[in-house]
Amino acid sequence: MKKQLILISDMEGASGIFDADIKLLRNGTEEWRKYGREKMTSDILAVCEAANEFGIDEILYYDAHYAGNPEHNVIVEKLPSNVKLFDTPDRCFFWRRIRGQAQINPFGLITVGQHARNGEGNAYFAHTIQSPPLKAFWINDIHIAEIGMAILSFQGVKYLANIGCAASEKEAKELSEKVVHISVKDKSKKWEPSIKETYPIIKQGVLESLKRADKAEGVKINTPYRFKLELCESYYFEQPELISWKGKFSEQEAVWEAPSVEIGLEIFNYVRERIKDVR
Ligand SMILES: [Zn+2]
Repeated sequence: MKKQLILISDMEGASGIFDADIKLLRNGTEEWRKYGREKMTSDILAVCEAANEFGIDEILYYDAHYAGNPEHNVIVEKLPSNVKLFDTPDRCFFWRRIRGQAQINPFGLITVGQHARNGEGNAYFAHTIQSPPLKAFWINDIHIAEIGMAILSFQGVKYLANIGCAASEKEAKELSEKVVHISVKDKSKKWEPSIKETYPIIKQGVLESLKRADKAEGVKINTPYRFKLELCESYYFEQPELISWKGKFSEQEAVWEAPSVEIGLEIFNYVRERIKDVR
C-alpha cells in the first residue's frame, strides 16, 4: 500500500511572520500574495522535501487558514507533484468530507504553521478558531483550537509532528505527548528567524519524526463526544426557539453532544450562528 502523509496547515504559526506582519496573514491582500504566501510555502516545501526523502508516496494536504476563501495560502505551482489537495469547496472545514478523502490508515499526520490557543502567553497571534468572539473550545474536556480540530477528526492516525510558534507546542503535546514539536519562532526567547533559517530546521525535524513514526501515537477519545464552546466578554448566545441537536445554551456557553467528532464540528457551525455582540 502506498504511504500517504496527511498535512494540515494554518498560517499564524508560519515561519517569518511576527506581530508586526499581521497584514501578511490576510488572505487575498497584496501583502499576503507577495510575502505571506512565500513564507507559508517555504514551510510546506520543507515538510514535503523531508517526506519525499523519507519515501512518502503521496502527501494529502489541507490548507485551512481563512477557510471559506477560495485562494490557497501556498503557491500551489511550487508544490511537488505528489502533493494532492483535499477537495472541499473554498477550503471549508468539512471534516467529514476531508477525513473521507484520506486512506483509512494513512502513514501519519503533520500539522504546520500552527499558533497557540486564545489566552496562551508568549504566543504569536494566539486565538481559538476566531477570537473574539470565541474564548475557548473543548471536546470531551480536551481544550482545543485548530490543532485539536484536525487531530480529533483524524482519530487513530499517528500524530507525527507539529510545526509552528513555540507556544503551539502545548496544545499539540496535550493531544499526544509523543508528537515531535518543531518551533519556528519563540516570543519568550525573542527568537524570530527568517524562512532561510527555519527551512533546514523543519526539514530535519520532520525527517526525524518520520523515522521514529513507530513511536508516535494516534489520538483516541471515547463516545459520547461532548462539545463545549465559551465566548469572550461582550459576546453572548441568542437562545434559539428550537434546538435540532442534543445540547443547550447559557448566556456565554454552549454545550452539545454528537455521535462523531465530524458531526459535532458541523453542529459547531450552527452554534456559532447564535453568537451576538452586546455592543
Ligand atoms: Zn489561521
